[in-house]
Amino acid sequence: MSVPRRIMPEHHPAWFEIDLGRFCANLAQVRKRVGQRLVCCILKANAYGHGIIPIAKAAEHSRMVDSFGVAHLSEAILLRNAGISLPILVLGAIHEDQIEDLICTQVEFTVGSLYKAKLVAEKTERLGAICPVHVEVDTGMRRTGVRPESVFALIEFLLSKPCFSLKGVYSHFAMSETPDNETSLRQIESFIRLKEKIPLPGIIWHLANSGGIAFYPDSWLDMVRPGLLCYGLTFQGALLDLQPCMELKANVSYFKVVEEGEGISYGHIYRTDKQTRVVTIPVGYGDGYRRDFSNRMQVLLRNKSYRIAGAVCMDQFMVDIGGDEAYVGDEAVLIGRQGDLEITLEEMAKVSGTDPREILCHFNERIPRVYL
Ligand SMILES: *Cc1c(COP(=O)(O)O)cnc(C)c1O
Repeated sequence: MSVPRRIMPEHHPAWFEIDLGRFCANLAQVRKRVGQRLVCCILKANAYGHGIIPIAKAAEHSRMVDSFGVAHLSEAILLRNAGISLPILVLGAIHEDQIEDLICTQVEFTVGSLYKAKLVAEKTERLGAICPVHVEVDTGMRRTGVRPESVFALIEFLLSKPCFSLKGVYSHFAMSETPDNETSLRQIESFIRLKEKIPLPGIIWHLANSGGIAFYPDSWLDMVRPGLLCYGLTFQGALLDLQPCMELKANVSYFKVVEEGEGISYGHIYRTDKQTRVVTIPVGYGDGYRRDFSNRMQVLLRNKSYRIAGAVCMDQFMVDIGGDEAYVGDEAVLIGRQGDLEITLEEMAKVSGTDPREILCHFNERIPRVYL
């Protein structure tokens, strides 16, 4: 008898089911849409909560993607240690102290200012190594990246230093998730104008995130950088046949009868209006299931939809099932399908007044992920 070595799904009353087949089918749909362009699959934030390593392995194995994009060096290190060999681009701003590890990890990284380029050159020349880099241009996001008029000087500097190998030039959309957006059209125009003025052979020009792929074919250029679409989420009006690939399920942990007029959970923000049956679901905000779902979000049980009763606690919440039947051990669906019903991340985002990506990123490592 000894303490289990690893946490297995049976040690926990809730689990994510992540369907790698659907994930790869989504990659195939993106690939089909953009034709011959390169596809850089975005894996930041634990692959949007789906689990960075299994997702990266499935993507690499599927041969549907050409490279990966992450926000930070730390994420690239995870991927390399897991045996991922496709090119990896670090999109976020790097620190000059990371140079040695960026090189050893064999990643491409972003240079977003002449200042940073000079610091990197200083460090790299001493190491005698070569850095594969992408230049980021700010065409409207105002996050990182040089202004269009400063790109020429930056590229000239990079080309003058043997420690740099210029791989690409890119920019990022600020509002590409609806069609015919003025700002997006202006960003595309500004980026393409640059591309025409800088006729460098073999350089990869890239701009399109998921919104760009969905609504702005002119932004596809040499490579696209889909995040959201890979995970099966899309936008109203986008003609893409995608499937969500993550479901969240839990086993009912408790059943009881509550009398009329009684409060449920912290603060008693829910009160019964008659004698009723109440079940407990062992998922809470400690797992990333947000407290603002209290009294608002639905769960599926025995092919019916029920609203959460009262505040979501750290590890559990309650559901009022009225006169219906449900028992301890029943499978509840918190995200995904049961029978003809479905709870989508889009609905959850709407309830929380946020983006589905934020709902996904809130989930942490406590609930086990099971891969199908
Ligand atoms: C996150 C990110 C993406 C992917 O965004 P989606 O809208 O989820 O497709 C692409 N490019 C950059 C620079 C990003 O930061």
